[in-house]
Formats: sequence, C-alpha cells, structure tokens
Amino acid sequence: MSASNFVFDPPPQPFVRVNGGGLFPVRRIFCIGRNYGDHVKEMGGDPRADPPVFFTKPADAVFESGQTMAFPPATNDLHYEGELVVALGGALNRQPSHAETRAALFGYAAGCDLTRRDLQAAAKKNGGPWDSGKGFDRSAPIGEISRSAPADGARLVLRVNGQVRQNAPLSDMIWSVPEIVSGLANLFDLRPGDLIFTGTPAGVGPLQPGDDINVEIEGLPCLEFSMGKTLE
Ligand code: MN
Repeated sequence: MSASNFVFDPPPQPFVRVNGGGLFPVRRIFCIGRNYGDHVKEMGGDPRADPPVFFTKPADAVFESGQTMAFPPATNDLHYEGELVVALGGALNRQPSHAETRAALFGYAAGCDLTRRDLQAAAKKNGGPWDSGKGFDRSAPIGEISRSAPADGARLVLRVNGQVRQNAPLSDMIWSVPEIVSGLANLFDLRPGDLIFTGTPAGVGPLQPGDDINVEIEGLPCLEFSMGKTLE
C-alpha cells in the first residue's frame, strides 16, 4: 500500500511540543478518573468504594499551550481539571516490570482535562459512555513535554484569571504514575506517542467565555490557554 492509495489526504498527525525542541507525535490519549481522594469526595463519591477508572480522548483533542480556543459547544457547565500528563516513548506489554515501565516513560507535562460536566453527569445517570462529556474537540490542552520528572514534592496549581482554584501535591494521587502505566498496560497495547492524563485533585469548577487558565507543576513548563469570548 502506498500513500497514493488513500482516497483523500490522511489527517495531520497531532503533536505536542517537547521542551528544548522536537515534536512528540500523539498516538492515543488515556485518562484516569477518581485518582485523588478529595476530588472523589467533591464529586459525591467514596474513594474506598469508587476505584479509579480509565477513559480515552481522541488523539486530535490535544490543544497547544499559549492559544485561545473557541468556547466548546453543547454545554452549560464546562469544567477545568488540572492534571499531570505522562508521555510514553516506548512500548509496553502486559504485566510490565518496574524497569520496563520506567524505561517506557518519555516525559511529563501539565495538562487540563476539559469536561462538559453536564453531559458527563447525564451519562453517569443513564449508565452511558462518557465520550460526549470528555472526548470532544480541543478537550486536551497540554503544555510542552519535559524530559525530566516533576520536582520532588511538586504541587499542581491551577489558576483561573489569576485566582488559585486547585492546589494539591502530586503525592495525593491514589494510583502512582508506575501503577497507572502498568494498570493501563494490562488493558491496552501501550506504544510510543501515548499520553496519559493522571487525574485531577479537588477544586474543579466551571469556565466562562474569556477566562484565562494556567496550570503549573513545579519542574515542568507551564500550560496557559484562554477561552474565546464567543461560543463556537
Ligand atoms: Mn480528569
């Protein structure tokens, strides 16, 4: 099969910039939900009874730092969720060892799991899939990828228009990064180009047209983006 056999031009390859140079080609985006106890509680759950869950976003949902996006359609309750993102540079098979998991880690970034909370809540109520609430266009803003890990004891701080809305240590995660990666590897083929959003701490809330969002994780490049003043 040659490229000329495609019946129309293949879509552009989604990518995330790497701090210091280069582009990380995105293959898949995995996300974990319910990975900080205080966030599980604010959503009305019980961290002991409601274990973390996995869901996905399309690869072309990535949105580059420093840009303004049209306010997403079909929601009256768009929420921010600041998150540490893990980028994989190697393949992992089932039951990976700690050494294999470590070797597959390419880098880390600050991200935001944008969520149409009203659509997600309706899906939860009806027992339906979360895709319309989680996997919409431009729902995965992400900062530049750092080849080095966040600083020891690093906190995740998310601000809206300069006001702190989320502020928690990464150590509050229920599942650690190696546990998330190996747990995913038991469910899916993980390959270079995969991104993993690792869950959000307490403090999630709504966004309005014109808002400026900033996600800081000590040791990583900052994520900054803005909501357009008009609806899409
Ligand atoms: Mn999330």
